Amino acid sequence: MRRHSLTIAVLGAAVALAALGALLGACATSGVNAGQVNLISLQEEWSLGQRLAQDLRGKLRLVDDRQAVGYVSQVGGRIVAQTELANLPWHFHIVADPEVNAFAVPGGQVYVNTGLIGAAGNVAEFSGVLAHEIAHGVARHGTEQLSRAYGLQIVAGLVLGENPSVYEQILAQIVGNGAMAKFSRDDEREADALGVTYMSEAGYDPHGMPQIFQVLLTDRRSRPGSVARFFRSHPLTEARIRDVNAEIAAKHLTGSLRHDPGYQRLRRRF
Ligand SMILES: [Zn+2]
Repeated sequence: MRRHSLTIAVLGAAVALAALGALLGACATSGVNAGQVNLISLQEEWSLGQRLAQDLRGKLRLVDDRQAVGYVSQVGGRIVAQTELANLPWHFHIVADPEVNAFAVPGGQVYVNTGLIGAAGNVAEFSGVLAHEIAHGVARHGTEQLSRAYGLQIVAGLVLGENPSVYEQILAQIVGNGAMAKFSRDDEREADALGVTYMSEAGYDPHGMPQIFQVLLTDRRSRPGSVARFFRSHPLTEARIRDVNAEIAAKHLTGSLRHDPGYQRLRRRF
């Protein structure tokens, strides 16, 4: 009898393991950050992103200038083309907000503030922040964090629209904090390392990333309010800048595009 129940227990555990394996397999991350559990499939993430973007349209002051949005989408698209999620639709938005900030919402929705366009003096610096945000998206840090914070039942319901209060919380967080979430140091490191690689492959000078980080660190001393939200969601230090420079050197990353007339036209608009 005891042996029988033990067999059942072992069998039960094997079934549970197989089910977990199937679940993780079905919801595998992009592979960039293998090992982190993500309970939301790519397809679900992209429909969640569409819904969030639709609702954010009513809550953020988006710039409705086709040429400007077109240029940002062109730079973003060039970076996205180097990633594992290049075959999915990505959308780029400009928020009319003088604060320096940018953020990625799950499902390929990337937002940059006009304040960032003011702070980034050339397209290499601008693409540095854009590539970093795209990398958060490709590595699926947002939905990983939702998976950790809420667990299967809630995230499944969230995607199906069954958890309106959690959905509203997430929306309010994005609007209030100017970010989907506060990312961990590991997430930041991964987004930096992936970002400089994408920049380089897209032809942009990857040094633009540590350079814009340096600009933001300096801004933090001279006008702290203007970068507060960016720093809250993306902890930024001198050590991190050194790490990014080391990554560029170690991987021999090249890419020389720094000045682009299209970017200067974009800056003159804001
Ligand atoms: Zn970040």
